[in-house]
Amino acid sequence: MSSRRNFLKSAAMLSLGASMVPEAAFAASKKKAPKAKGGKSIGLQLYSVGPEVSGANTAEGLKRLREMGYTYVELAGFLGHSASELKKMTDDAGIKIMSTHLNPNTNGEKYSQANKQQIVDFWKKQIDEHASFGMKYIVQPGLPRIDTIDDAKRVADVFNACGEAARKAGLLWGYHNHDREFNRVKGEGKEERQIEEIFITETDPALVCIELDVYWTVMGRQDPVEWINRYADRIQLLHIKDRMVLGQSGMMNFEQIFKNFYANGHDTFFVEVEDIGSGKQMQRVSDSADYLLAADFVK
Ligand code: MG
Repeated sequence: MSSRRNFLKSAAMLSLGASMVPEAAFAASKKKAPKAKGGKSIGLQLYSVGPEVSGANTAEGLKRLREMGYTYVELAGFLGHSASELKKMTDDAGIKIMSTHLNPNTNGEKYSQANKQQIVDFWKKQIDEHASFGMKYIVQPGLPRIDTIDDAKRVADVFNACGEAARKAGLLWGYHNHDREFNRVKGEGKEERQIEEIFITETDPALVCIELDVYWTVMGRQDPVEWINRYADRIQLLHIKDRMVLGQSGMMNFEQIFKNFYANGHDTFFVEVEDIGSGKQMQRVSDSADYLLAADFVK
């Protein structure tokens, strides 16, 4: 792996960076996101914003996000642009693309040996389309249909194959939870296990990381801090989300979430506000940035 990576890096240097190969792009992407207000790096899942950062408004909208304090983002689509157009607009705004969310469509079918290759091929195509961004992560946020422990293990097996495809392109593949991942499913006899635990323990740490959505973890009646520490090496990304604007509900212990996440050696997180169609997304995304900029526990 390392010799291949070195070879690819050399090849990229010989071509003076014109059309960087993915592994070289990955190396370049390891640079920290630019710092904003107060020297902090704050990320945003772009699903949080609506028409104000889309289509003809994208370039201006991205600049507004940068002014709010967001320095890096996770995509959820290309906002009505080609990859090269979007790359230029984020570069111009001083925002780095670190990750993306994507879901394969299996028409409601469970993951199985029969559709495994089709799912992996979906990711390979997406990895190619996202290579030019120089991002580091590529993440699935949707839970496949799972009824039993064996179903969850089959999904984990497919996740490993997706992760292998991503790793070949210099990306780390990740899985993002909602609340149902904390449901227990049955196996033989009386055995019961949580889906999220199966995903983490049945996937290869070299191929699959976990993006923990801390709000949905609480909605799954779990303590995100406990999970962050139980799987300190696996939970490498966070979705920082509250019921609406960060800090307003009082139900999220963001101080301990950040302190423990940083203590584990991680620092990449994405603010998320799920308020689609309200017309108030930009204000709520801005208020959420203000909360983190004022919080002394956020670096
Ligand atoms: Mg989320």
